[in-house]
Amino acid sequence: MTRLSCHRFRSHEVRLWLGVIAYNLGNLWRRLVLPLRVGHWSLTSLQQRLVKTGGRLIKHARYSWLLLAESHLTRRLFGSMVWRIAALPLPTGMGVAAGKQSTRREEGDGKVYDKSPEITGLSLFVAEAGTTDHLPGGGRVPQDGNHEGHGSDGGRRVYNECCPGVHGGNPDYPQAQPLPLDGDQPTALPYAPRHEVMNGDTKPVLVIGGGISGMTAALEAAELGYAVVLVEKEPFLGGRVLRTHRYFPKMCPPTCGFEINVRRIRQNPRITVHTMATVERIVGNPGNFMARIMLRPRYVTGKKFLDDSLIDQLTSERPNDFNLAMDKTKALYQPHDTAYPPVPVLDRETLSQGDEAVISRLFPAGAIDLNMREEEIEVEVGAIIVATGWRPYDATKLDNLGFGKFRNVITNVMMERLAAREGPTGGELNRPSDGKKAEKVAFVQCAGSRDENHLPYCSAVCCMASLKQVRYLREKNPDSRATVFYIDVRTVGRLEKFYYSMLEDEKVAFVRGKVAKITEEPVSGNLIVEVEDTVSACKLHAAFDMVVLATGVVPNTADVKIPFPLKYDAHGFIDGTTEIPGIYAAGCAKRPCDVARCTKDATGAALKAIQCLKRGE
Ligand SMILES: Cc1cc2nc3c(=O)[nH]c(=O)nc-3n(C[C@H](O)[C@H](O)[C@H](O)COP(=O)(O)OP(=O)(O)OC[C@H]3O[C@@H](n4cnc5c(N)ncnc54)[C@H](O)[C@@H]3O)c2cc1C
Ligand code: SF4
Repeated sequence: MTRLSCHRFRSHEVRLWLGVIAYNLGNLWRRLVLPLRVGHWSLTSLQQRLVKTGGRLIKHARYSWLLLAESHLTRRLFGSMVWRIAALPLPTGMGVAAGKQSTRREEGDGKVYDKSPEITGLSLFVAEAGTTDHLPGGGRVPQDGNHEGHGSDGGRRVYNECCPGVHGGNPDYPQAQPLPLDGDQPTALPYAPRHEVMNGDTKPVLVIGGGISGMTAALEAAELGYAVVLVEKEPFLGGRVLRTHRYFPKMCPPTCGFEINVRRIRQNPRITVHTMATVERIVGNPGNFMARIMLRPRYVTGKKFLDDSLIDQLTSERPNDFNLAMDKTKALYQPHDTAYPPVPVLDRETLSQGDEAVISRLFPAGAIDLNMREEEIEVEVGAIIVATGWRPYDATKLDNLGFGKFRNVITNVMMERLAAREGPTGGELNRPSDGKKAEKVAFVQCAGSRDENHLPYCSAVCCMASLKQVRYLREKNPDSRATVFYIDVRTVGRLEKFYYSMLEDEKVAFVRGKVAKITEEPVSGNLIVEVEDTVSACKLHAAFDMVVLATGVVPNTADVKIPFPLKYDAHGFIDGTTEIPGIYAAGCAKRPCDVARCTKDATGAALKAIQCLKRGE
């Protein structure tokens, strides 16, 4: 550990510092200046530019030292900055510390550094490259600065290699063996160094789905000493919760809890994560299953750092799935700012030939492998947890509500992305047709749910989701008005308080009645909502700038079944215990529910899985 004062700055560090200053200035601006609303000036774009430029400078700075500003205050103010740096694929010996003032050892990128206990306030410290012997369990990091390390699968999933605590798997369970595809040479998957394993006599738990339920189940089992293989079909962990702007009831950003879970996963050598992966086949009995996992190619090896200026050279674009196609990304993209693993993805289908040439001309050799192919591996597992979650109901099926016909009719999941700073409007609640600030917004509850023609069940979370979104609107546009059209407001237990707080807001109206029809005024793009108010028995026709449909929750297993004969209900949800010993469901794979319920559920499923491993049944 070296104090910063002893260090002579080099030019890349100056760039890093400029970046840190600009980034933080931008963030401070957002927190302190914007709320003051100085006259009619539009300060937002300047603030966003500061944050963006700062972020870029930080990203582009090729530094070999760790710099950190950390304290309780700075963590609150600059929490996202710390995460942004942590999310970068850092060169050897570099990491970002984040944590409590009182702890002597801090961890950010899975590596642990000693922190001077006397650091207070806005303190900075640096850790010299190579100070990695503090890794828990004797873990090691690659020493060549390129993240190439122990073992290799041909560089195809390098994030498996660069962090021993992340994906290394467990040498005591060499369960993952790649199967050769079309003449591919079989290659050994990387294994982490040997760590203490408490339960060496059991097979791992397979967790399907890396949302909050899957991550929780994996962590609960792994932290009790059991090996876990976590399989996620997207290129990143986090599931749907990560796509929300804030989550109820505390209204914190979802990255809060996610960041902590990722850190726990990275530090736990018992968890092997496979992203862009699906389980294609399961055979066997409780305590003794064999699962075949298909890994889709990412095309980015992760061996070389790809900065934004390189990616900016590409011209091919694709719809941004993370923002529900409301904006676009380059064909080579980072799914979102806090994506884990922090390795970009290449959409091979949309990559033009011109961009292929740019890649071969400008990108560092070995950064992209356009010949990467699908891979299959087989794992032996003792128990399986299905946490495959949900998708929103297809709102185009709700003919009378105009989604897909009228641009200003959006869904609740779109609203989450509009409100998010990383969303298509930079967090401004503007209506899609003309970018005008949404001042008068209708929230249509039970859009598709509790309807025999669509989803006969209650989706459980959309009342709270809409109340939360009303709050986004009222906080962002203080002059705005919201009207919630509901059949019942279902906010159970402590959530009722949240509802009551909304009732106190005189600019929020609640109208009891199921919306019959939505039409559009051709020139203004305003929407006319027709509804019968069942309290006053009056028919209402009211105009709004934008309408948000509270569309319901459909299990992913309604379309794609788990490749094992499980029992599903009429809507595709998996029966709780699945009735198959050794296979358990958790979270929204079982029924619509909120995060609090998912985590309890996942913990229960992990316990059941462990019981199964112990019984060996
Ligand atoms: C508009 C809206 C707002 C919400 N806001 C909140 C809120 O503020 N607070 C709150 O508590 N709850 C909220 N919820 C509910 C919350 O989103 C869910 O509780 C949560 O997403 C459930 O987590 P999960 O892990 O069970 O499922 P998911 O989040 O859906 O995660 C499942 C994961 O499994 C993966 N997967 C699916 N199929 C496969 C497969 N075959 N193989 C491998 N991987 C697979 C998916 O890619 C995904 O990553 C909201 C819901 C809605 C509709
Ligand atoms: S949670 Fe509310 S909006 Fe959603 S289906 Fe149930 S009653 Fe309707």
